[in-house]
Amino acid sequence: MSKVNLSHTPHTDEEIAARVKALEAVLIEKGLMSEAGVNRFAEIYENEVGPQLGSKVVAEAWINPEFKARLLDNATDACRELGIGGLQGEHMIALENTKDVHNVVVCSLCSCYPWPVLGLPPNWYKSMAYRARITREPRACLKEDFGLELPDSVEIRVWDSNSELRYWMLPRRPDGTDGMNKEELAALVTRDSLIGTGLAKTPPA
Ligand code: FE
Repeated sequence: MSKVNLSHTPHTDEEIAARVKALEAVLIEKGLMSEAGVNRFAEIYENEVGPQLGSKVVAEAWINPEFKARLLDNATDACRELGIGGLQGEHMIALENTKDVHNVVVCSLCSCYPWPVLGLPPNWYKSMAYRARITREPRACLKEDFGLELPDSVEIRVWDSNSELRYWMLPRRPDGTDGMNKEELAALVTRDSLIGTGLAKTPPA
C-alpha cells in the first residue's frame, strides 16, 4: 500500500494544477458535475466574488451604525441583508479594528477564509511562513512583511479561523472621509484591511 502524505507542506503551482485537473476529470466522469458547471464555479470565485463585496459591507457599516451593530453581532446574517453569503461563509465573525485594538486573521492549520466577502485567499495567506509568523510574532510580521507599523499602545489580537468559523475585520474608518458616499468609502477598503494585515486607505487630501 502506498503511503498517504498527511503533511500540510505547500505544493507547487504545477502540482496543484495537476491535482485540480484530476479531480475535475473524476467529477465530470462520475456525472457529479458538468464541465460547464466547473467553469462557472471557477468564474464566480475568480471574478464575481471578491473583496469588493467585503468593501461594500464595510462602507455600509461605516455609514449606518445600526447595520454596524448587526454586523458585529452576527456577520453572516448582516451580510445576507446585502445579498452576500454562500459557500465558506456559513459562519462568519467580523471584528472591529479600532485605535486601541488591531485584529488580524490567520488559519494556522490550513487556509480557511471567508469566501463570500473576500473571494479566494492570496497565496501568502496559505503559506507556512505567514501562518507561523503572524501567530508567533504578529507585530514584527505586520511591520516587516506588510509594512504595517502599529504603535506599541495598540494591542494586536490574532484570530485563528477554521472550517466552522471564519473571521474578518471591519477596518477603522479613515479620518477625512466625513462627506464621502458609500461607493467612495468602499473604494478605500482593501483586501488586506479586511484580513487585518493592512488599514483602509486614506483619501487623497
Ligand atoms: Fe483552514
